[in-house]
Amino acid sequence: MRTGQTHLFIPGPTNVPEVVRQAMNVPMQDMRAPDFGDLTLGLFAGLKDVFRTKTGQIMMFPGSGTGAWEAAITNTLNPGDKVLMARFGQFSHLWVEMAERLGLTVEVIDVPWGAGVPVNEFARRLGADKASEIKAVFVTHNETATGVTSDVAAVRRVMDECFHDALLFVDGVSSVASIDFRMDDWGVDLAVTGSQKGLMLPAGLGILAVSEKALEASRHATMRRAYFEFSDMLRLNTDGYFPYTPPTQLLHGLRKSLDRIAAEGLDNVIARHHRLAEGVRRGIAAWGLSLVAEHRTLYSDTVSAIRVPEGVDAREVIRIAYEDFNASFGSGLARLAGKVFRIGHLGDMNEGMCLTALSLAEMALVRAGADVQFGSGVAAAQDWYATRPKVRQQMPIAAE
Ligand SMILES: *Cc1c(COP(=O)(O)O)cnc(C)c1O
Repeated sequence: MRTGQTHLFIPGPTNVPEVVRQAMNVPMQDMRAPDFGDLTLGLFAGLKDVFRTKTGQIMMFPGSGTGAWEAAITNTLNPGDKVLMARFGQFSHLWVEMAERLGLTVEVIDVPWGAGVPVNEFARRLGADKASEIKAVFVTHNETATGVTSDVAAVRRVMDECFHDALLFVDGVSSVASIDFRMDDWGVDLAVTGSQKGLMLPAGLGILAVSEKALEASRHATMRRAYFEFSDMLRLNTDGYFPYTPPTQLLHGLRKSLDRIAAEGLDNVIARHHRLAEGVRRGIAAWGLSLVAEHRTLYSDTVSAIRVPEGVDAREVIRIAYEDFNASFGSGLARLAGKVFRIGHLGDMNEGMCLTALSLAEMALVRAGADVQFGSGVAAAQDWYATRPKVRQQMPIAAE
């Protein structure tokens, strides 16, 4: 018997605010009703703000972030096209694998798990590509497996410096609506996210923001696609409709979550993620443990991947936390299995939740055999949360 709350400290699916859950509890409705666009057109506008784009086109496919990856690739590239990617964690690895399966020629740069996008190496390869054989550059903005945030703006800069006209793809699944992301300023052509991370919803929507240049590419791209065809989606979206049944409940939830983000202010949402993440990081440092991220400039404000001490099995930490303390932590993925556990501090979070995560992790670590002082991480985070004024006052969330 589990009593009380089961805590979700994983980097997706994230906690769904109660008001968002309630907003989804609506009767089924006709997705071809004359007023259906009243809901959907506002969502496209709201998502443009979240991606920080004025000229980009939003598309929502029933699916997950992985589906949005596939939509981005199949609509804009041709079989055999050369693309430049870096692999530094499980999600960037899976994106490489998908690109290969779909028949792209992937020039993959392997860097240590814990590093970010190798901007200098990208610059070198792009500079050497005089014949413009590279058709797209892929960046995993926030590598959720390692807790590393890469510098997308720097990738755009090196592309511009060598006048390279490849498309810039960005996986923003665990960064959009939580870590600073700027589609237009950074010249991103295809940005991808899912509903179950920063947007605080259940899984079920694969969301893209597509630049004019990428849309133009989609008019000539010859890779096969059917379900994910941009042009079918766009034709119907113009009036707020979809080419097939949209998950209407999720759309109602999205309305509410976009309202919450707007009420708090996107800049404040991003500042809150930083503030909460910094407290968690201080807690981890006080335990004497280190992050997978190699350098503080790479630290992710949405997830911390923590190396457990030698002789401790991170799988045990996670199992104990779940079975004994009703708390889910993220596991170490692929080569990090057993060596790492992750704390997700993404979405609808606050100080109390982060302190709870640290407190329960301390107990699970000790039970799993780690030499961690009870209260050490909690105290370090408390010190940060209690003494640092909030960067900007959070706005009250309007009448709900
Ligand atoms: C979660 C995640 C994905 C996968 O998204 P799904 O919605 O599970 O398909 C891809 N990339 C990153 C960076 C993620 O965090």
